[in-house]
Amino acid sequence: MHQHFSLLPFNTFGIEVHAQYYERIEQVADLQKVLKTGIQPVMILGGGSNLLLTQDIPGLVVHNAIEGIEIVRKFNNKVWVKVGGGVNWHAFVQWAVKNGLGGVENLSLIPGTVGASPVQNIGAYGVEIKDVFVQLEAVALETGKICRFNKAQCQFGYRDSYFKKEGKGKFCITSVTFSLTQHRHRLQLSYGDITRTLAQQQVENPGIAEISAAIIQIRRSKLPDPAQIGNCGSFFKNPEVDRSVLEAIRTNYPNVVSFDLPDGRVKIPAGWLIEQCGWKGKRVGNTGAYEKQALVLVNYGGATGAEVKALAFAIIDSVWVRFGVRLEAEVNIL
Ligand SMILES: Cc1cc2nc3c(=O)[nH]c(=O)nc-3n(C[C@H](O)[C@H](O)[C@H](O)COP(=O)(O)OP(=O)(O)OC[C@H]3O[C@@H](n4cnc5c(N)ncnc54)[C@H](O)[C@@H]3O)c2cc1C
Repeated sequence: MHQHFSLLPFNTFGIEVHAQYYERIEQVADLQKVLKTGIQPVMILGGGSNLLLTQDIPGLVVHNAIEGIEIVRKFNNKVWVKVGGGVNWHAFVQWAVKNGLGGVENLSLIPGTVGASPVQNIGAYGVEIKDVFVQLEAVALETGKICRFNKAQCQFGYRDSYFKKEGKGKFCITSVTFSLTQHRHRLQLSYGDITRTLAQQQVENPGIAEISAAIIQIRRSKLPDPAQIGNCGSFFKNPEVDRSVLEAIRTNYPNVVSFDLPDGRVKIPAGWLIEQCGWKGKRVGNTGAYEKQALVLVNYGGATGAEVKALAFAIIDSVWVRFGVRLEAEVNIL
């Protein structure tokens, strides 16, 4: 086990903090063994792509590196695939696309691990993992016992799940089983620039491989690559508000964009709100809001977690003052 271990290479914001103790685990049994040391608290680290580290981490950081992709069931048009929690998410998507299995192609190029994917019910381009989720296995950090969660138990919501609420910090997700389609894939093309990009590429009858390629191209053009410039993707969730809030905004901003929700409320893009407050492309010390997408906070090099957190709070305050909308961080701030 490592002590006073730098987490700089293990978070996409590229922030230097240290773990009091650090252990990388490749098997469930390794995890159960390390939990027996009784070191507390325990924090599970995946790809570090949804974490803002603002201070040294006390206790034990367990780095999940449990590999493995296994087909566990085939029936009708379905294939159930059990994937190790430490598998890189995009590597799994590429495996599915290469094997002609549909369902996760819209989630191409999302950084991080499979084990973290249920934590915030990752989503992009009209698909969330809840749409393909069957069950997961997790180890309870207090007892070392293996538990199974079905979809209802995960309480999936928009960038939300049981593992961000009552289950927060209590489990390590060691595998996730997904239900993919073998043929007659349910393609989701209606979101964002997918159809426009496919038309530019002169693709007439897209399949899952073409959709994945289009999404990779769109994402590369819009989002900063963490290898070049530290970031965690969208820093804030898109706020869901009552229609009256939208109408109040519309009196001064007739062009405000919104999406209707099934419960009668509306979702307003956080990036738009932040941009209206003048943050897009604005640099504050070593941090700032990305020039192409204000929702993405970046580390221009050498930023501390405290600096990024201060920027995030300044943005939350200015959006609140101008629009009366309280932004909520999507990124886990530690
Ligand atoms: C450029 C960029 C683009 C992104 N785009 C998207 C996007 O389109 N959609 C989207 O939803 N997200 C997006 N993200 C956010 C991020 O990729 C996801 O949230 C991803 O699931 C995080 O995985 P991770 O392994 O890096 O988790 P980490 O950052 O390591 O951890 C995140 C949280 O999950 C917990 N955790 C991690 N692994 C486990 C586990 N095995 N068991 C229990 N808890 C665990 C951690 O303790 C922490 O609280 C983006 C990030 C970046 C950098």
